[in-house]
Order: sequence, then C-alpha cells, then structure tokens
Amino acid sequence: MTKMKTSLVASALAMSFALAFPAHADAGKTAGVQEAPLRAHLAFLASDLLEGRGTGQRGGDLTVAYLETQAMALGLKPGNGNSFRQSVMIAGVKTQPADSTLKLEAGGKALDIAFGKDWVFAPGDATASHSFNADLVFVGYGITAPDEQWNDYKGTDLKGKILVMMVNDPQPTAEQPNRFNGKGLTYYGRWTYKFEEAKRQGAAGVLLIHTTPSASYGWSVIQNSWSGVERFQLAAGTLGTQLQGWMTEDTARSLFTAAGQDLDALRAVAEKKDFKPVPLAARLNGDMRAAVRKVEQFNVAAVVPGTDAKLKDEVVIYSAHWDHLGKQGDSGDTIFNGAVDNASGSAALLAMAQQAKLAPAKRSQMFLWVAAEEQGLLGSAAYAATPLWPLAKTAANLNLDSLNFVGATRDIGTQGSERTELGKLAETAAKAMGMKIAEAEPDLAGGYFRSDHFNFAKNGVPAFSIESGSDYIKDPAGAKAKAQAYGKRYHQASDEYDASWDLSGMVQTAQYALNLGRLIANGAKLPEWKAGDAFAVPRNK
Ligand SMILES: [Zn+2]
Repeated sequence: MTKMKTSLVASALAMSFALAFPAHADAGKTAGVQEAPLRAHLAFLASDLLEGRGTGQRGGDLTVAYLETQAMALGLKPGNGNSFRQSVMIAGVKTQPADSTLKLEAGGKALDIAFGKDWVFAPGDATASHSFNADLVFVGYGITAPDEQWNDYKGTDLKGKILVMMVNDPQPTAEQPNRFNGKGLTYYGRWTYKFEEAKRQGAAGVLLIHTTPSASYGWSVIQNSWSGVERFQLAAGTLGTQLQGWMTEDTARSLFTAAGQDLDALRAVAEKKDFKPVPLAARLNGDMRAAVRKVEQFNVAAVVPGTDAKLKDEVVIYSAHWDHLGKQGDSGDTIFNGAVDNASGSAALLAMAQQAKLAPAKRSQMFLWVAAEEQGLLGSAAYAATPLWPLAKTAANLNLDSLNFVGATRDIGTQGSERTELGKLAETAAKAMGMKIAEAEPDLAGGYFRSDHFNFAKNGVPAFSIESGSDYIKDPAGAKAKAQAYGKRYHQASDEYDASWDLSGMVQTAQYALNLGRLIANGAKLPEWKAGDAFAVPRNK
C-alpha cells in the first residue's frame, strides 16, 4: 500500500468514525463499521436463496461456505489451524411413540396417558433404543446450588432412577426475598440445567412437571417441540440421560395420587431447604424407540491476530449464530428467512471483522459464527466443550443475536454484563458513543441463559449479548411500534429482509460491540466475574 493510499484510507476511516461517534470520539483507535457491507451481507444471508439457513439443510451448508469465503476475502486468519471450520456433530432425534411401549405404573397399574397430549419423552443420549424398568423419585427442584447453600439431593443414590422434578427455582419467601434471585430466574431453574444435573446424579432419566407459570410458556410449546418433530442434540461429548421428558401437571397429579402421595403437599415441602428426595411407589416401564440420524454442522471461526507480543495469545470472541429454522412445511411460504434472527448478527460480525482487520488490537479477536443455536445452543456448546482457543486465555465473549433494524438509539442493552467486570467497560464504551446502558429488566424468563454467550459464561468466561436499546432518536413512537411488530414475525416465515430498513441502529450496535471488544482486547488484564456469582468459576479449559 502506498503512502497516499494509506492516508486516504486513514482519512476515510476518520470520517466514518466521526459519523459513528458524534461525541467523545477518540479517532485513530477504532475504525468505523460500514453500513454498505453490513446491508449487503444481511440481504444475501436473509434471501430465499439461502433457504432460511436450516440445520442439516442445503441452505445451512451454503451459509457456512459464504461466511468462510467472506472471511477469506477479508484476509482474516483461519480460526482452526488452516481451516475456518469447526466440526459440530449433532444428532437429529425423533421419538417414535407408536413403536414405544413406555408406561408410567403406580398402584399396580399403568396410567392412562397419551404421548403428546399428557407427556413427551425422547432419548437424551442420541441412542435409538432403550428399555426401562426404573423407580421414580421426586427430587423437588432437583437443584445443587453451592452459592445458595441448597442441595435437593442430600447425597441420595439416584443411579438408574427416573427423577421427577419441578421446573423453575425455589420461590422468594418473606424471610428470604432474594433467594435464587427473587422473582428472577436463575440458571438452576432452567430445564436445561435440570437435565444436566440429573446426568451428574447418574440418573437414567428425568421427567419434568410442567406448569405454565413455572415454565413461562404453555404445554402446547412443549408438545410442539417434542412430538412429531426432529429435535437436535450434540452427538458427542456432552450426552444427556437416557430419557428426557415432560409431563403435564394433570399427569403428575394422577401419578402422585396413584402412588399414594399428594403433589401439592410435596411441592410445598420442596420449597424448603431441608427437602429430601421422596421415592414414589411408581415405575417407568417398557421400551422407548426413536429415529436418530447424525449430521455434521460447522462453526466458522476467523481471527484478527493481536499486535502485542504477549497479549496476542489471549482473545476476545465475538459470536453470532448463523443458523435459523430453514425450510419447513410444503405449502405457502416455506422459507424461514430469519433476517433479524440472525442474519443481522451474522452480517454484523462480517462488517466488524472488516474493520478489526484494518485496526487490530493488542489481544487477538475471533469472529465466531456458531451453528445450531435454534436447536438448543448446540454450536456454542460444542465450541465451549472443545474450544479452538483455550478458555483460560479467552478474555470475554460478546454475542450478537437479532439486532436493531429500526433506527439508532440513545441506549444499548448489556444485560448480564453487570455480573462481571465487563459492566464498567460496557458503560465506558457506551459513554464514548454518547449512549447510556438500557435499564435492566428483571430476568423472569431466564433470557440470559437462552443465548450462545451462556455457553461461555457457564465455563467461567465473562460473556453477554449486546441488545438493542429502545430510546430511539428518530420518530420514537413509530420506531417502537416497528420494533414491537417484530414479535409477530419472530420465528415465522415472515422474518424477512426489507430494503427500506433503517440500519443506523444495526451499525451502531455493531460499532458498540467492536468498541467494547477493543477496550477488552487492549485492557491490562482479563476481566473476571464478580465474587460470589454462580458463574465465578475458573475458566476451565
Ligand atoms: Zn437467534
């Protein structure tokens, strides 16, 4: 590059930087994320040609090829040796209720219940065939929480048992209004935690008791995602228990009654710390059959190496899931484009990487597009299980999922950052862009545990998702209405790109992510969790 060209680039960067930073600009440190490439990547990734970027589908393969070639074209370094790809082996599992003879037995007879309507089950270990003859044990919330001095298991041997559990976590009391984060949901309350803990207890399976308030959604949501459809799970590394499932509250009531127990009385006991597992005079009996197919998917990882001789061994990871729901059904609009969710974040990462390459930081920066998020955060789970960069040298993970397509804001969402030293940096980065951190709302449905950053958090890496603000600068009422109307398109075929979108908010979010990432990448030391937090564990790999 000649001198003249360098200065032209520099002045172009300074100009775009000034545009991105109306106030408090510290030019020369950061490059400005450009709208044109962001819009181009977004339009392409969200187009019908990509067929909704489905897991195990052609559109997903095309997406990976696109991200990989774009990363090459930008001159980024492959994140996995000389490859941009990380293999993620997943299993598609579909229960075959007609071929299964599974029964719940209590009081000498089988409960009269139907798969789908009254209960659902599937293998958690990607195995097609299982036979059960196992005792049922009620374990309350099924929680082991050292940070809350809570243990529902009390050392009981549960090997080979089927654990019957409540979802959510112990509710606040007059004496302890803040236990388990008060009305907010802790990770101990998520069904994913319950399945993981049952595996650690050596159980053969788990049946969760559904109630709409405890799950925060109705039975139909479970029925739709567990019966008649293929569900995906990791095929290696982190297998679950042999059986995973849910039952309706009515089913649980019949089961407990037939076993000579009172469901409500036992649930009340389970709110207390001295709760102990209660063996039910009931069994799970019979065979479970499922169709299982293994599919290879890929995370895509690209790196901008750091400039500091020592700090370049450490990395800041920006992530976004590339997958969406793909093609479904055979009439009407069969393509679930996922323009907002998450062509937006995937496109933003490419536009950010383009600028990061022009202005590297002391630490390295990884741009990570993860697979199979919509199937249960599987790509990021596979990454955390087998990281391409040691987690012990991973400074932080900033995740982008479903970005602002409405317009620039005065605020930005950083929920979860306050649990770590990233909270302060998030404020600094916001201030430098003339923004403030959006008021955090109580996390009643456990939103923090439902995005890819969480697989980093679980393994000790400070991590959160950067989310849209809502204090729109232009036409606040109109913008808010547009943002709210997205609720109807969420996870529908109508989540499509519209060329008239004002992408100033998306560019702003991408710029914010990059600026915050740079602050972390240039910081004196790796950020940590605040002491006492449930995830304040050493980065473990
Ligand atoms: Zn998403």
